[in-house]
Amino acid sequence: MNHYDVGIVGGGIIGQSIAYQLAKEGLAVVVFESNRIGKGATSAAAGMLGANSELENNDAFFSFAKESQRQYHKLCEELLQYSQINIQLVDNGMYKLALTDSEAESLQHTTKHHQAIEWHPKDIVLNNEPNVTNEIKGALYIPEDGHVSPIHVCAAFAKSASHFGATILENTPVQRIQKVANDEYRLSTPHANFTCEHVVVANGVWSNYFFNELGVQSGLKPVKGECFSFQSSEIHLERTLFFDHCYIVPKGDGRFVVGASMVENDWSTEPTLGGIQSLFEKVIPILPNIKSAKLLETWAGLRPQTDDGKPYIGKHPTEENLYFATGHYRNGILLAPKTGTMIRDFILKRTQQEEYVNAFSLDRKLVKMMR
Ligand SMILES: Cc1cc2nc3c(=O)[nH]c(=O)nc-3n(C[C@H](O)[C@H](O)[C@H](O)COP(=O)(O)OP(=O)(O)OC[C@H]3O[C@@H](n4cnc5c(N)ncnc54)[C@H](O)[C@@H]3O)c2cc1C
Repeated sequence: MNHYDVGIVGGGIIGQSIAYQLAKEGLAVVVFESNRIGKGATSAAAGMLGANSELENNDAFFSFAKESQRQYHKLCEELLQYSQINIQLVDNGMYKLALTDSEAESLQHTTKHHQAIEWHPKDIVLNNEPNVTNEIKGALYIPEDGHVSPIHVCAAFAKSASHFGATILENTPVQRIQKVANDEYRLSTPHANFTCEHVVVANGVWSNYFFNELGVQSGLKPVKGECFSFQSSEIHLERTLFFDHCYIVPKGDGRFVVGASMVENDWSTEPTLGGIQSLFEKVIPILPNIKSAKLLETWAGLRPQTDDGKPYIGKHPTEENLYFATGHYRNGILLAPKTGTMIRDFILKRTQQEEYVNAFSLDRKLVKMMR
C-alpha cells in the first residue's frame, strides 16, 4: 500500500517524535529517511536538555522549551514500555562555571529572575565536583537541565512509532513533493511514489531544498558543530559543566562528551583538527587531569539555524495539510517532544496555544511587519 494519512520527510529526532505521536493516535504514518535514522544532526548532539542554560528570555520559546523538557520524564517510561529502549535520561543538573569575577557577578544576577537556579560558591562546587579546577569563582547550579542520549531517543521514538503501525523507510530520500488530485500530496522517491493526505517536512538543515520547491520565503543555514568524547578513571563528574561556550557532559556509561564548535555556513560533516584543538584548549584549564584521559571519538554535525534562532513548527502559509517542523538549531533534542505533540495537534485540528503558533509560524516575520 503506497497511501498514508501522513508522510514525514526526515528520520531524525524531530521526524520520529512526530511519527510516534501520530501513530499512537491511530493514523497511518510513513517516515522517509534518506540515510539511516538519526544519522543527521541527531547523532552529533550531546543530548543536553538545556532550557534554562540555553535560553535567556522569559518568552514563548522558553515556556515551550520548559514544557518539552518536562515531557521527557513521562516519555522515558512510555518509550521504554513500547520500544524496550532506555533513553538514558540523567537528571543531575548542570553547573555553569564562573571563571572571572565579572562572570560570577553576571551569573549571580540571573538567579534574581529564575527560581529554578541557584548560586553555588566555589567551596560548594569543589565539594560536589572535586575534579574541577580550584581557579573557578563559583557556579550557577541549574538542577532541571539534565541530558539524554539522542540516538537512543530517536531509536525509541521510531521503534514505538512502529509498535503503533508506522512504516519507517531508511535509504529512501524524498526527491519531490507535489500536490495532486483530491487534495493529496505525491512524494517521489527513487524506489516508488507515495500519496499522503498530510505531509510534514522535517529533514533538518536539508529542509532548505523543500522551502524553495514549495514556495516558502524562509530558509536555513548550517552551523557546524564539532565534538569529542573521552574516558578516564581519574575523572568523576555528577553534573554537566558549561563554560566559555563549551560543555562537558558526563554520560551514564562512563564516557564524557565535550562540545561544541560553531562554524557558520559550513556544509562539511568531518571534524577538523583546529576545531577539536579549540575545545581541548578550553577544557584543559577546567579539568587539568584530562591530559591523561583516553580520547575515544571525534565527530561533527550540522545544526539547522533560522534567521531568528527559533524553529519553524507550523503550517505552510497557503497550502493546506502541508507542515514544517525544522530549524531547531542548538536545541532539537530538548524541543523534540513538544514539537511532536504540536504537529500532532495541527494535524488532528486540536486547539493549540496561540503564543506557540505565532512564535514558530513560517510567516512570523511577515506577521510582525504587518502589526
Ligand atoms: C555538535 C552538536 C551538538 C548538539 N547538542 C545538542 C544538545 O546538547 N541538545 C539539543 O537539544 N540539541 C543539540 N544539538 C542540536 C540538535 O542535534 C538538532 O537541533 C536536532 O538533531 C535536529 O533534528 P532534526 O531531526 O530536525 O534533524 P536531523 O537530525 O539532521 O535529521 C534530519 C534527517 O533528514 C534526513 N534527510 C535529509 N534530506 C532528506 C530527504 N530529502 N528525504 C528523506 N530524508 C532526508 C537526513 O538524513 C537526517 O537524518 C546539537 C547539534 C550539534 C551539531
